[in-house]
Amino acid sequence: MNEIERVTDAQWKAIANNDSAYDNKFIYALRTTGIFCKPSCKSRLPNRRNVRTFHHATEALSAGFRPCKRCKPTHARLPDEEWADEIARFLEAHYVDELRLHTIADNCHGSPYHLHRIFKRVKGLTPMEYLQQLRINHAKEQLQHSSLTITRIAGEAGFPNVSYFITLFKKVTGYTPAMYREITRTEAGQEHRVIENGGV
Ligand SMILES: [Zn+2]
Repeated sequence: MNEIERVTDAQWKAIANNDSAYDNKFIYALRTTGIFCKPSCKSRLPNRRNVRTFHHATEALSAGFRPCKRCKPTHARLPDEEWADEIARFLEAHYVDELRLHTIADNCHGSPYHLHRIFKRVKGLTPMEYLQQLRINHAKEQLQHSSLTITRIAGEAGFPNVSYFITLFKKVTGYTPAMYREITRTEAGQEHRVIENGGV
């Protein structure tokens, strides 16, 4: 355990007094229960030895702790940008899975409506559009650098079926997956010649 994780006297006082002035400064987690709380949480005062602190709820989440249902330490405390980043990271880690807006919302601790709106405002595209972009990028990469079949690539990029994948891919890139594969491979083969000609 390093110094940052150890609860300081000031933090301990805030926890003992349920001091909401500290709610934006840190959160604390209990090793025994695996739950984390805001300093103001009215839950029973834990044993200090079992307490570990974090600067942000996201850190506690990534360390495997779960938010307390009583004080909801992940709600409304995160600035929008940070929350949007958290959502983006979730999508980046799970885009191959079947994801619906409510699943994303459950995992990122917000309502679907709120999540959709905040993400769009911060990132400029909706969570589902972002998800689609991740899947398309993954598929592009595979088309260029693997010899997997298009059906397999669609499945591994998280697309529910291959015809949907082909339609969407064409809509986004202007090419069918097969054409895209052929073009990018031909281009890669010609690369050195293009450079010799001054990149024109
Ligand atoms: Zn709590």
